[in-house]
Formats: sequence, structure tokens, C-alpha cells
Amino acid sequence: SELSNTYPTDALQALDASHHLHPFTDHGSLRQEGSRVIVKGDGVWLTDSDGKRIMDGMAGLWNVQIGHGRTEIADAVAAQMRELSYYNTFFKTTHPPVIALSEMIAKLAPDPYNQMFYVSSGSEANDTVLRLVRYFWDIKGKPNKKTIITRWNAYHGSTVAGTSLGGMKAMHAQGDLPIPGIHHIDQPYWFDEGGDMSPDEFGIAAARKLEEAIDRIGEDKIAAFMAEPIQGAGGVIIPPETYWPEVKRILADRDILLIADEVISGFGRLGEWFGSTVYNIEPDLIAVAKGMTSGYLPMGGVLVHDRVADVLEHTGSEFFHGYTYSGHPACAAAAIANLQIMQDEGVVEHVRDVAAPGFAKMFASLADHPLVGEARTKGLLGAIELVPNKDSRDRFANYGDVGTICRDISFQHGLVMRAVRDSMILSPPLVITPDELEWMGATVGKVLDETG
Ligand code: PLP
Repeated sequence: SELSNTYPTDALQALDASHHLHPFTDHGSLRQEGSRVIVKGDGVWLTDSDGKRIMDGMAGLWNVQIGHGRTEIADAVAAQMRELSYYNTFFKTTHPPVIALSEMIAKLAPDPYNQMFYVSSGSEANDTVLRLVRYFWDIKGKPNKKTIITRWNAYHGSTVAGTSLGGMKAMHAQGDLPIPGIHHIDQPYWFDEGGDMSPDEFGIAAARKLEEAIDRIGEDKIAAFMAEPIQGAGGVIIPPETYWPEVKRILADRDILLIADEVISGFGRLGEWFGSTVYNIEPDLIAVAKGMTSGYLPMGGVLVHDRVADVLEHTGSEFFHGYTYSGHPACAAAAIANLQIMQDEGVVEHVRDVAAPGFAKMFASLADHPLVGEARTKGLLGAIELVPNKDSRDRFANYGDVGTICRDISFQHGLVMRAVRDSMILSPPLVITPDELEWMGATVGKVLDETG
């Protein structure tokens, strides 16, 4: 903040471009256009270095559940840092904040999830999942069960394991990935891949890709199926209602673990504490991160079902895995303060009863716009498909360009929207009010008019 008071925006941008390699950024265009410099956050609003107010329609990167600028969290973290700023949780060691947080999460989670393995990010959560499921089958005496089935266009993080588990081909192309032992199947993206099928028919067909893969590879070689309840970074791909029940039917009689990547859907975004409950997924492992601390500090984890935890507990061996910052005390204090605010203020109930219905209504009102092929929501996740002709699901020839234009116009109007090719994504803080939703809807309407 000292810098932002001292230097004008263009000087900050030049300084940034000189010394900062950004994630997911084309540095040539960054040098030409400069970065957005965000200097302050308050509720659903951000302020940039020119003093412009911008609505954070993405809740940061889908993670700022309770909004920006809650000083209670800063106070809780400062108090913890004064007491014990760091100690580890390796080698039979623990500390009060991580004890309290683990109990809190076990109470918030659906019934049989009582154990948490801590990490610092969603990527680390999924790296842990990969090692944990293979370790699980080793100690069960089935070391050939190594393959993990995931889906094309899934996002499971950016580490080597996260990228490999994910299904982003452009990411695989960089770094000679995926690593061996990961098998990708089709995603349940009806709008792009449903062809002549109804959404319900397509949901069944997409789930049966899992059955085909298992039959082809052999159940004795498959460790797990891993999926986001709703694919987020892939474009808010809300599966047809038939999809998850069919996946569960397929896995019911098979000895294969089910893993829900709830890095986005965990902690309230779909109007319940966990997305697995919304879709009745009943996974063996749940990867979480993001909303656990509302982004105030980095923290994530793998929530383990009792039926897996029991096996781990009775092996008599040690899982050689962990991070220096597994269960960091200050991050645990941030998570506790965040989850306490969410409980005290009824944030999840607010999503379920107020914000998500308002958000759905707003999207429904945008569906008639000539550029909009589909406007879909679930909880506080929403996507608008931009198309040249609203009566077909064909894409623009220069797929992705219109989305980029739309995103930039939106920013000029003071709203952060994300473009995934030509899908416009919104995922606001969970505390968004009806008035703020109304502003968001009116702004998106103007943005669409100006886009085309
Ligand atoms: N899994 C999902 C579903 C995600 O959306 C993300 C991040 O967007 C990740 C994993 C990776 O999380 P992180 O960026 O904290 O490593």
C-alpha cells in the first residue's frame, strides 16, 4: 500500500512487469497492456490503483466466500502469530489451532468424514490424493490398483500430479504430461458435446464412459475415479441430473475409490457445506482448499471417510508424505475465524435461501439475449454460453475471442467476469446481497449489449 500511494499506476505496472513472472499469463501482452493493480478489498468490492471500484464477480479465484476485508480474521491470525507463529505437525506433534480446526471441520462435514490431512493448496490436496489412494491399495494388498480415472477439461491444479490428473490438454502439452497411470474420459458437457441427446440422456451416456474405461482397463488395475462435482475452471460444467446417480450405480459394486475434488464446491458455494451432499456423491476422499480460509491465508486438505481412515490407522506402517506447512497454526486460525463467521452469520443458508435463487433469476433474465445460447447456474456458480446464433449450439468460428472481448468490456464496467473460451463465468463471494446481485445483473446485460 506504500507503493500504491507513492507511484502512479503505469510506474507500478512497469515495475511489476520487470520483476514478476505471473501464473497463467502471457508476458508479452502483460508488458504491453500492464497488469491490473488491485490495492484494496471490502465485501464484494475491490479498488484498483486508479481508485476505480470493481465488483469481484469471481470471489478472487472462486475462494473469497465471506468477502474481502474482514478484520476479525486479521485479528485472529495476528493473535495466533503472537502466541505460536509456526510449528509443524510431523512426527506425532500438534498444536491447539489445528486441533480445534479439525474438530470443527469434522462437525461441518457429512457424518462419516472425521479425519483431515492438511496441505496449503488445492494442488497439494490432489497430489496427496494421488499418493494416498495408491498407498491405500498397497496396504490392502492390491498394489496393481494404480490407475486413476479423471475427465478431460477437468482442473485439479498446477503441480505435476495436479496437471496430470486434470484434463487440460494445453497444460499437458507443457512439461510432457500427464504422468503414467492417469486415464481421462469424456466430460459431461452437454452444451458442447451433447449432440442430439437430451441432457438427461447425455448425462447417462457420459457416466457410462467411466464404465467403458473400467471394463477396458480392468477393475483390478483401477485405484479411483476423481471428479469435481461441477467442473469449475473448465467452464462451470453443471452435469445433467442423471450423471452422478449413474456414476454411483457404476461404482456401487466395484472396488474403486471415489474422490470428489471440492476445492471450489466445498464450504458453501452450492448452498450446502459440501457439494458432495448436494449431489449425494458419498466419496471416499474429499479434496478441499480455497473457501476453507476464504483466501485470507493458504490452506487446504484431504477429508477422509472413516472407511479409508480405518484402513490407514490399522496398517502399522507410516505414510511418508507431508508438507512443512501441513496444518500451519496461523492458517488454521484463519480457517477457524472464517468458518466461525460463516456459521454465526448463516452464510451457507444465505446462499441457499437468498443469493442462489437471486443469482438463478438474474441468469434466467439474461437467457433471452441474442448472444446467449445457455445461461446456467447451480448455487453461486454460473456460466453464460456466447454463441453466434441462439437457436443452435454452434460456436463462433474464432472460438474464444468473443469471450475475451466480453470479459474486457465487463471490467471497464467495473465487474470481474472470467472468460473460459466463450463461456462467461461468475462465482461471486457468498455474502453477496440482493442489491449487489441486481447491480451485477444490470451490468452483465449492458456488457452483453456492447459485446454484440
Ligand atoms: N481443484 C480445483 C477443482 C480447482 O478449481 C483448483 C483451483 O482452481 C485446484 C484444484 C487447485 O487449487 P490451487 O490453485 O489452490 O492449487
